[in-house]
Amino acid sequence: MTNESPENYIHKLRQLVELSRQLSQGGELEPLLQLIVETACELTESQASSIALFEKETGLLKFVAAPRSQIERLRRFRIPLENSLAGKAFRESRTVIIQDTSQEPDLFRTVDYELPFVTQSVVAVPLIYQDSHLGVLEAVNKQDNAHYTEEDVTILETLASFAAVAVNNWMLAIDLHMAYQELADQDQKKADFITNVSRKFRSPLGLILGHAGFLQEAVGFGRYRQQLDILLQNTLRIKDMLDELAVPEADRLRAHMVFRQPLIINEIVKDVAQSFRNAAANKDISLKISVPDEEIIVSGDAEKIAIALGNLLKNAILYTNTGGRVLVQVEKLPGYVKVSVADNGIGIPAGDIPHIFERFYQVKSHANRRLAGLGLGLAVAKIMIELHGGQIWVESTEDKGSTFMFLLPLMTAGAEDTLESTPA
Ligand code: ADP
Repeated sequence: MTNESPENYIHKLRQLVELSRQLSQGGELEPLLQLIVETACELTESQASSIALFEKETGLLKFVAAPRSQIERLRRFRIPLENSLAGKAFRESRTVIIQDTSQEPDLFRTVDYELPFVTQSVVAVPLIYQDSHLGVLEAVNKQDNAHYTEEDVTILETLASFAAVAVNNWMLAIDLHMAYQELADQDQKKADFITNVSRKFRSPLGLILGHAGFLQEAVGFGRYRQQLDILLQNTLRIKDMLDELAVPEADRLRAHMVFRQPLIINEIVKDVAQSFRNAAANKDISLKISVPDEEIIVSGDAEKIAIALGNLLKNAILYTNTGGRVLVQVEKLPGYVKVSVADNGIGIPAGDIPHIFERFYQVKSHANRRLAGLGLGLAVAKIMIELHGGQIWVESTEDKGSTFMFLLPLMTAGAEDTLESTPA
């Protein structure tokens, strides 16, 4: 046991607690490990302390933290797992304590030549996280040639477990970063592929549409008219899908150039909603439009706002059963206008709501409802609204209905018609 005073012991415990608080705040790995070795030196009164991590490529231990004056030189070194104390602690997964190294043939002396002192006493503690052997923490030369005590070993083992957690967190963060990177690359490849394919489909589709239109006129109301109508209708559906595919890419490129001019939002909403009258009537859905008399002016691109609202309305009618209700509402709020599209349709399962605005996301349980959809309508609406500095979101309950809402900033007094840059 130790003959250390209780005050001293409590002071050391406090330092360990403080260190664990700092470590829990995260940060770059090496400064954290540096802090750990400095604390190890101080609390165990050692001349030096270091951390070496296992390097998969070489199968050796590599220094990553050591006394500041020596770390640059030590970084060049690798410690073999055989014939070294660090290697022994690592291989055998246990703390190795040597109070007098002159009796120790196992010591890896090459490091000594690089250090301004000779190793006399050592404690080597393996860094283990669950089943992973990550490296070794060492403390060397207890002050005044004293022996390392049980408390020293406990402190070093505590610090080694802090270091193991920090290393493990760092490795997880790297894995996560790489996985994100890979996903982003795949996303980009997918987007490029889709853009290419949709572009390539356009000219043959244009030809089919042109010739089918010509045949339709030639045939008039005669034979094969019905077949030609179906042909044309479905070709137009394919064209709509290709247009949908092309929008997000095109807009990303043009994102920084939005043609901004004063727009009366009341008019846009009324026009777009009116254009869905027939679609709603075909399903016996009551479509109500509630727009205030006071003109509400926003600054932006009418076509883009119309696309966003049109996509919300298309969905509201598509995902509402025959005989249902859809309400389009405009409300003026301080600094913003809020446009909402509420339906009493099938609603969205809670688990799907966070993903609903992602590109190509479709609710699995709605598969039988999908007509021409590609899971892009809401993603496009989001881009359009955010291009205007707005926000879009949804509140929905399964089997009860959904309310999609977006906010657009009101045009500030004095703003003029301009071709403005906005952040992408
Ligand atoms: P899609 O082209 O498949 O309709 P969207 O991006 O427009 O793609 O919508 C994504 C998914 O969100 C849809 O597949 C649908 O399941 C769900 N959804 C969108 N709007 C509604 C709504 N008003 N009611 C219920 N579900 C909806």
